Amino acid sequence: MKYFLVLAISVLVFNQSFAQFNDYQVFFGRYNDELLCRKWIQNGEVFYLSINPNTLKTSIVKDIKAEPLKWDEVTQQYQKTNYLKAWNVEKHKDYTLQDAGIEKSDSTLNGFSLTVDLCPSTKPLDRNFFKQVIKAFEVSELPVPITITITGLWMKSHQSDLKWLISQEASGNLTITWVNHSFNHHYDPKLPLRDNFLLEKGTVIADEVLLNEQAMLQNKLIPSVYFRFPGLVSSKAIFDQILSYGLLPLGSDAWLAKGQLITKGSLVLVHANGNEPLGLKLFLSQLKKNEADIKKKAWQLWDVSNLISKEK
Ligand SMILES: [Zn+2]
Repeated sequence: MKYFLVLAISVLVFNQSFAQFNDYQVFFGRYNDELLCRKWIQNGEVFYLSINPNTLKTSIVKDIKAEPLKWDEVTQQYQKTNYLKAWNVEKHKDYTLQDAGIEKSDSTLNGFSLTVDLCPSTKPLDRNFFKQVIKAFEVSELPVPITITITGLWMKSHQSDLKWLISQEASGNLTITWVNHSFNHHYDPKLPLRDNFLLEKGTVIADEVLLNEQAMLQNKLIPSVYFRFPGLVSSKAIFDQILSYGLLPLGSDAWLAKGQLITKGSLVLVHANGNEPLGLKLFLSQLKKNEADIKKKAWQLWDVSNLISKEK
């Protein structure tokens, strides 16, 4: 009986926290010069996720008068913005099974962007990795810009690690771009890539994207305009579906554990979820090697949106 009561209460609490979000949907609209891309109802009020089409940063707005737009109108009205230029670049990067999407930027940049994936894991977050990155770059840039791609399942089972990351933002050590990496991030080592990750039979893309955004919002993270495919694996159909939600897929040209190297403008990929320590080790050894250049700002860590808005 006691067990049943506990269960009943926890179901009630769970439902209440979800009940705060209603009618979460893809919605395009104009608000001043910004582009609204999502709409939902929370505690009786209408909220929107808004993209600044030049900085590519997102924010949450409410109590506004939104002018709804069809996607064709978005492409016309925002055609000169960095957002639409990046979206158009993406349209031509949808054809490969692996690593589709923007995977690097202008090669004249003195630096690169670091993306850290948090795929589902039973292991704790490697907090030491973040501490080392902060220590290395704080001489030249603080808060240190970093991109974290996150899954619903990781958030569910790593609440204290997530709070720790958020506290690093609050204390001014990190500035984090939070990227949707799908809710479930299914992976079956026995399946070929063409049937794996989001291409696995029975996967509902809308749920993987929109449920994860809601989970991010409920954890007080503002979803960015980017999406990272689990395993960097996609098909043209799924890639185009992600684009239709207004999202920009992020590939990588420097998945360190796979032997790829950091070059100017790279989107570096490591995992800090405990499942790929090699990538972290390789990155930390690069930090040591480039210590002098970091001080001179000749080897810089770029905010991903600044990097991508330089994309030609
Ligand atoms: Zn992943």
